[in-house]
Amino acid sequence: MKSRIDLHLHSTASDGTLSPTELVRAALGMGLTTIALTDHDTTGGIREALDAARGSNLTVIPGVEISTDVPGANELHILGYHVDPQHAQLEARLSALRHARVDRARRTLACLAQAGCPLSWDHLVELSQGDVIGRPHIAQALVDAGHIDTVHNAFRYYLAKGRSAYVDRYKLTPHEAIEIIFAAGGIPVLAHPRHVLSHIPSLVRAGLAGLEAFYPTYPEPEQTFLVNLARKHDLIVTGGSDFHGPGITEASEPAVVYVPPYTVAELSDRLRRQRRQALPLAT
Ligand code: AMP
Ligand code: MN
Ligand code: MN
Ligand code: MN
Repeated sequence: MKSRIDLHLHSTASDGTLSPTELVRAALGMGLTTIALTDHDTTGGIREALDAARGSNLTVIPGVEISTDVPGANELHILGYHVDPQHAQLEARLSALRHARVDRARRTLACLAQAGCPLSWDHLVELSQGDVIGRPHIAQALVDAGHIDTVHNAFRYYLAKGRSAYVDRYKLTPHEAIEIIFAAGGIPVLAHPRHVLSHIPSLVRAGLAGLEAFYPTYPEPEQTFLVNLARKHDLIVTGGSDFHGPGITEASEPAVVYVPPYTVAELSDRLRRQRRQALPLAT
């Protein structure tokens, strides 16, 4: 069945290659009904996406994706749906994370220079097109400078965890990410959870509200397993392509994975309940 929904998309506001407007146009061209813009550590693309979709039949859910660290485990990514993109406290936290990315990028370039791969800082900033500098931008800069043939190999030989130019950056804990998403009126959801399933019970205790079950690299039986796991913990089920632009990741275009309409309805129901609870009690 053709998917009309995609709740996990990146734009040039973080490490995607389509601008928010181009992303919305692509979604409209494909006949999608609902998308969520979930850029890493920024809500900076949301206004443009909402403007581009105005007057159309496409609903844009404001979102964000925050990478978090858990000691001794893989990175754990928390999506926030229906966040207030203007929320001051959220913006302060995201801004600190973006600054840490700049710092990490400088240290990565120093490592790369040591490894015989000098890069131009100005070119890297130009590639990032904004204030979120990600490893994909550094990978592209390595390709542009002729140090390596593909972005994939740039990760494989230099930038992936454990390789010579991998540098850690400051990250929130999952609990902090959940807390800040709630503070901004949003719904915290665990992204691509395959490698972090053992953390789900503690995340649920911290207020996790959803689980991403529909994901392009997850075979159907695994998606079904995740839907059942979500039900067991009373979590909302979500899904999306994690599209970053044509040819960047596994998802070559939006909506490559089927995401059922009930996911959008469950998010809306949850939002209504959260907003009701946030209302001051009448006296
Ligand atoms: P960062 O958040 O800057 O540490 O970079 C992580 C991002 O790099 C992910 O969100 C993906 O978009 C991208 N990425 C991670 N691994 C790879 C890979 N092997 N090839 C291409 N892109 C990757
Ligand atoms: Mn990314
Ligand atoms: Mn992610
Ligand atoms: Mn993502």
